[in-house]
Amino acid sequence: MRDTDLFRMALGIAPPWVVTKSEFDATAKRLDIHLDFAKGSRFTCPQCGLAGCPAYDSEEKTWRHLNFFQHEAYLHARVPRVSCKDCGIKQVSVAWARPDSGFTLLFEALVMAMVQAMPEAVVARMVREWDTRLWRLIHHYVEAARDRADHAGVTSVAFDETASRRGHNDVSLFVDLVRRRVLFVAEGKDAGTVDAFAKDLTAHGGNPQAVAEVCIDMSPAFITGTAQSLPNAQITFDKFHVVKLINEAVDGVRRAEQKTHAELKNSRYLWLKNPPNLSERQRAQLHSLSASNLKTGRAYRIRLAFQELYLQPAQSAEGFLKKWYWWATHSRLPPVIAAARMVKRHWNGILRWFLTKIANGIMEAINSLVQAAKAKARGYRSLRNLKAIIYLIAGKLELALPM
Ligand SMILES: [Zn+2]
Repeated sequence: MRDTDLFRMALGIAPPWVVTKSEFDATAKRLDIHLDFAKGSRFTCPQCGLAGCPAYDSEEKTWRHLNFFQHEAYLHARVPRVSCKDCGIKQVSVAWARPDSGFTLLFEALVMAMVQAMPEAVVARMVREWDTRLWRLIHHYVEAARDRADHAGVTSVAFDETASRRGHNDVSLFVDLVRRRVLFVAEGKDAGTVDAFAKDLTAHGGNPQAVAEVCIDMSPAFITGTAQSLPNAQITFDKFHVVKLINEAVDGVRRAEQKTHAELKNSRYLWLKNPPNLSERQRAQLHSLSASNLKTGRAYRIRLAFQELYLQPAQSAEGFLKKWYWWATHSRLPPVIAAARMVKRHWNGILRWFLTKIANGIMEAINSLVQAAKAKARGYRSLRNLKAIIYLIAGKLELALPM
């Protein structure tokens, strides 16, 4: 068998295309395969599908293909433009590549499989391609899959912001709590963010009116946005964020008290952690601090009691929270009182958890995936790239890759 026949079969090249020659350069670690079509061949119009159009002229093109063992492989062909009697002069489509791509479909499929498993920069290094060229193809596949994504039937959504760069909270993620996938990545966080999500949901066959439950933090932006754009949704305030509020109050008490009690310095972590997560030494330290009748110790006990709320049976939850509220508001600890008032203002949404049991835990999981990918890639150069990667690793997209 001649090498041209072997490559024709291996590449799945069909008439009128033929493999005319191959050049292998071991020093340059490179294989070049040349394709062509016989003079007088007829092609299909890419616009109207009319078969049998004659070639009008052609343009030389090159596509990067899957490696041939450890050698880079390239296809070359002159791609004809046809003269269609209805559409005029059009460039024909080739079976092995998308229009305007410098890669074959199989090379693109390989890259897309790789970027789902490792940072784009690592993939670029491994396949020895420019970053910008790979991003262009990633965006193509992600955007096409996003356009096709079906969000009909979405009824339960969690949203939260996530840091896209150290210290910057630039994107908000909207997650389908039933199918556990990212539905929408929004820039920033304000009431308009929820509106943008509602519009995107509609564009994907979903219905903002049908969203019955949302899980969010207590930020006014999200509360207002939900009321405006998801009018039938009941709010559950995310447990983690509510407990965090009480934790911050404990730390507020500690910071004020450490001015007169030096032993409290550097003890922030002790009060924030839950007792089972402390080391032997930390537990002993916490024990001696708690025993010394400090305000911080009192605030800490109020925090532990608050966490016990979530262990109550549903029917006694409100009674428990009322008692807690009385205790907290009579603590004479201003940060704790402020936190308790905040709890009061968000009363129904906090108690709604006993009915829905929904939380943003999945968000933390997605966020850690994103953070891990970013840490390895030393950040994504643009918000657009970050969004694409989030959709890719957490959007459960159907990428429709060639096999
Ligand atoms: Zn045509």
